[in-house]
Amino acid sequence: MTDFTWTRAQFHMPDRVIYLDGNSLGPLPLAASDRMQSMLTEEWGEKLITGWNDCGWMQMPRDLGDRIGRLIGAEAGHVVVGDTLSIKVYQALAAALRLRPDRRVILSDSGNFPSDLYMAEGLIKLLGPEYELRVVAPEEVGDAITDDVAVTMITEVDYRTGRRHDMADLTRRAHAVGALTVWDLAHSAGALPVDLAGCGADFAVGCTYKYINAGPGAPAFIYVAPRHADQAEPVLSGWLGHDSPFAFEPSYRAGAGIERMRVGTPPVLQLAALESALDVWDKVDMADLRARSLALTDRFIAGVEAACPQLRLQTPRDYALRGSQVSFAFDDGYAAMQALIARGVIGDFRAPNIMRFGVTPLYIGEAEIDSAVAILADILDNQLWDTPQFQMRKAVT
Ligand SMILES: *Cc1c(COP(=O)(O)O)cnc(C)c1O
Repeated sequence: MTDFTWTRAQFHMPDRVIYLDGNSLGPLPLAASDRMQSMLTEEWGEKLITGWNDCGWMQMPRDLGDRIGRLIGAEAGHVVVGDTLSIKVYQALAAALRLRPDRRVILSDSGNFPSDLYMAEGLIKLLGPEYELRVVAPEEVGDAITDDVAVTMITEVDYRTGRRHDMADLTRRAHAVGALTVWDLAHSAGALPVDLAGCGADFAVGCTYKYINAGPGAPAFIYVAPRHADQAEPVLSGWLGHDSPFAFEPSYRAGAGIERMRVGTPPVLQLAALESALDVWDKVDMADLRARSLALTDRFIAGVEAACPQLRLQTPRDYALRGSQVSFAFDDGYAAMQALIARGVIGDFRAPNIMRFGVTPLYIGEAEIDSAVAILADILDNQLWDTPQFQMRKAVT
């Protein structure tokens, strides 16, 4: 059994804050302060360039990739960490398209995060006008997987609504028509159990600064199924994905397996924070996490629906269709969220009218859920959001 009292004690949480935004940026793991300090002074400071060998820096993207692999059901040796999620989406998508050279269609859905769609658009511009990004409603993805589709590019859990796709079913349908799958796990990794190997997923990508708690700007990860690992073409052919980077050959030769999905120098300081974040995850059973996440999201939904009739639930009630966040529509949602944040309840807002609350059992429990509901009800009942101060839009929402 996972000890959620222990996990909660592993994070720094500012006084009087109820943090319901771990789906955007996880909190600081306490051990990360010391780990990053030792990385700075003992490793970078003392070892200088010898740290690449002596401190295992060059190996970190693979080692940490394997530790993330446990959370997402990946085979050992098939996940590597680096770059940002947008870049990893591009890499996975390009490699998948090259594996289906006779097809031209990328299938995605309108609930996908814009950056994924933008990266697909950019890739298509480069590849030529015969390529197509086909975007359908989330509910229509299954039926839209036709035999002209080269690759499906689907984010398992919708960033706005928290709606979850059926990864096993959609992967099966894609394979049945000869298509490949790229799964974006941005709102899945560290949020719920994922079984990439069991589902037969082809490619997957995700980030580490959301539910995994590795800090702002922490790098992304990419998974390539073992059957594709030595065939997937790395379009971002940087030197660290070369088969022999330190031979400094004049021309690119792809490295073995997942190594080829590396691009350039790893962000070692940020990887030290990821290491501390994963030390907590090593003690978490994903089935326990899921059970607790569902109980807490149920509690939040029931509380808000009882106390705040002004809000309309956007997240599916069906467990099979639910991620680990709860979203409500409210026309003055931006101002209401600013008023909540001013009272210490931190969630976020997604245009046009979504108030979004991440539920993260590692450091959120019943008491926080109940207090958040009470404060939200007070703000809505008394229209406390209706002041100029809360209407002013900030750059980051
Ligand atoms: C958060 C998120 C991103 C962000 O990409 P970055 O390159 O890390 O900024 C991309 N895609 C999805 C689905 C996300 O949820």
